Amino acid sequence: MKVHEYQAKELLAEYGVPVPRGRVATTAAEARLIAAGLGGKVVVKAQVHAGGRGKAGGIKIVSSPDEAERAAKAMLGTRLVTHQTSPQGVPVNSVLVSEAVEIEKELYLGIVIDGVAGLPVIMASEAGGMDIEEVAKTSPDKILKAHVAPGVGVRPYLARSLAFGLNLDKALIRPAADLISNLYRLFMAKDCSLAEINPLVVTADGRLLAVDAKLNFDDNASYCQPDVAGLRDAEQEDPLEVEAKDKGIENYVKLDGSVGCIVNGAGLAMAVLDLLKQEGGNAANFLDIGTLNDPERVVEAFEILTADPDVKAVLVNIFGGMARTDIIARGIVDASKQMEIKVPVVVRLAGTNVEEGDRILRDSGLSLIRAYSFREAAHKAVEAAGKSN
Ligand code: GDP
Ligand code: MN
Repeated sequence: MKVHEYQAKELLAEYGVPVPRGRVATTAAEARLIAAGLGGKVVVKAQVHAGGRGKAGGIKIVSSPDEAERAAKAMLGTRLVTHQTSPQGVPVNSVLVSEAVEIEKELYLGIVIDGVAGLPVIMASEAGGMDIEEVAKTSPDKILKAHVAPGVGVRPYLARSLAFGLNLDKALIRPAADLISNLYRLFMAKDCSLAEINPLVVTADGRLLAVDAKLNFDDNASYCQPDVAGLRDAEQEDPLEVEAKDKGIENYVKLDGSVGCIVNGAGLAMAVLDLLKQEGGNAANFLDIGTLNDPERVVEAFEILTADPDVKAVLVNIFGGMARTDIIARGIVDASKQMEIKVPVVVRLAGTNVEEGDRILRDSGLSLIRAYSFREAAHKAVEAAGKSN
């Protein structure tokens, strides 16, 4: 789960990471008042669940409450498109009005889980700011990395060695080391999957400040983080993904291809994406209906897919282990009774009760495209999506 910058900064402040003064506004008049309270020279920042705002017009540095009001007015109610969003962008329903700081240097500081090492890793760089992705690509040596053993935590020497690596003035080593260990404390305490400060700035008057902040949280831990769950802004999420979550379909991710997929098991779902690609097509989504033996789950999956205009064909690929293919077949029949499915549907069933599953589909009289191997199914789905395009 993602949260807004202003929410991330409130958490950072709680954990002792210095952030600029500021407040969130949902109207231009409010933005004006906050700007006046901060002395006029402020930054107006679109609050969206995406980075790359600076390059997309979502960050405005202004020098009076009047200008702050105008900047807020221009942003609020629009959709911001950045290189991290879909072409439709994300709605700007609030702006953060924050004191403008005089920046001497922009650094990068981030913590993520390193999946290969199985440990949190702290990354820090002197080359922070809006082009950190480019730095990571062209000169990865400019990014310092330190893994943390969770049982040990960030020992002072580790924080200090990162701080030294950032070539900071001597007076800033201690504050930087404290900041790093505080960010790590927050990362662990709140079950983050990402905690990123970019830029972490050295101000002209020699302080460290988190000028931008991004926190992502591990959804698997959401049940032990009720406070974090309260920070969710579903309007920033893909509407179909929100609907899938509400329906209890855990794993639905919208993608940009044309074959809608209904699959059981995350591994098989990943393999489907690969095979579609090999057959020259692309999946419109990742969808794992799980192993719940309930035809209603299949109906719900069809509801999501038929609401997606990108879906030009549906591929149902089910391997019945724990799942029973006859129940899946019944779900397909139920779905076609309950809604109009305008696109071709390719079905491949294998495993438990497949004879019964096949019989149900045959007897239903539905005009389905049947496939009996994985590759055949992928091939026919790509072909069907191409034809109905
Ligand atoms: P992002 O583009 O979505 O990552 O948004 P950021 O909050 O990181 O802002 C982008 C850039 O705007 C930063 O890298 C800074 O260069 C600049 N910026 C943001 N806040 C301030 C500020 O208070 N003062 C100054 N001078 N620049 C700022
Ligand atoms: Mn940033």
